[in-house]
Amino acid sequence: MLMRECFPFYASDGFECKLERVRAAHGASPLGPVVLVHGAGVRSKIFEPPVEMTLVRYLAEAGYDVWLENWRASIDLPPSQWTLDQAAVYDHPAAVRKIIDVTGASTIKAVIHCQGSTSFMLSAAAGLLPQVDVIVSNAVSLHPIIPNVSKFKIICCTPLLGCLTPDLNPQWAIQSNTYVQKALVGLVRLTHHECDNDVCKFTSFTYGTGFPVLWRHENLNEATHEWIRHEFASVPISFFKQMSRSVRAGQLMGVSHLNTLPKHIAAQPAKTQARMVFITGDKNVCFLPESQMRTYLFFNEQRRNFHSFHLLAGYGHLDVFIGQRAAVDVFPIILDELNRPTH
Ligand SMILES: [Zn+2]
Repeated sequence: MLMRECFPFYASDGFECKLERVRAAHGASPLGPVVLVHGAGVRSKIFEPPVEMTLVRYLAEAGYDVWLENWRASIDLPPSQWTLDQAAVYDHPAAVRKIIDVTGASTIKAVIHCQGSTSFMLSAAAGLLPQVDVIVSNAVSLHPIIPNVSKFKIICCTPLLGCLTPDLNPQWAIQSNTYVQKALVGLVRLTHHECDNDVCKFTSFTYGTGFPVLWRHENLNEATHEWIRHEFASVPISFFKQMSRSVRAGQLMGVSHLNTLPKHIAAQPAKTQARMVFITGDKNVCFLPESQMRTYLFFNEQRRNFHSFHLLAGYGHLDVFIGQRAAVDVFPIILDELNRPTH
């Protein structure tokens, strides 16, 4: 049994976000708080697929006070044309402050995925998360590197898509209302034949080039493959525009002109003392493993033999968390890294 509590919080620009606290039923969490941060176009439920052991349960039962952050990209919150800069400056520092306030802890740890990772890492590197002492980042952080065919797609298609629609939404595969939505669903059906789940196929169309892009089918159980139908929804074109610029630059680029963020975040030393742990699947075709390796090298340059990098054999992008064997192959690595000394 797990105990759950909800904590709404306001990002510092007033956007209302949500935190969910999950603890083992006995209530003891001697290892302190850890925040889990989801990616784009999903919600914090993405960490709780229908598998025997989720990362949330695994960490709670190990003694962590688990916090699930729904930041402005969450499909449980009102849609907006969000940017990674806004999340970095407004959402994540406010979420961390809220957790510190409620728990009374002096430091917290974080497990962050994809665009939750890029934005959280942006925030940490800009010195906005001094309370976070360990960060486990999956898939991509400061250096988004994608396959050439995906690069061509995002750079060429984003301006065109931006003229036709304010967002992309895998839910259109279930219900589409406009000609543009219907045409995109038709395009996906024409070009994707890897499974019979239209939402699964639309996520591949949305997030890159692959069949599929976000997981390896053999790593998901049937229930999880079915469950994703309701876990992927709207992603704004503002995100694709920022990622397109960042991919061209080979590093995250600020686009919102916020004073607290440098335009080229990786052009100067990061303002964080946190120990960084980079993980990614060796079969990740959404963001290539080189993405995480580059950011690892960036941090290793600043403090040698302190940070870590793990390449997960046989894994892709999100199956690192939702895969049917992730509790055996991946979660022990995450737990072990969270438990290591932070100095
Ligand atoms: Zn599928």
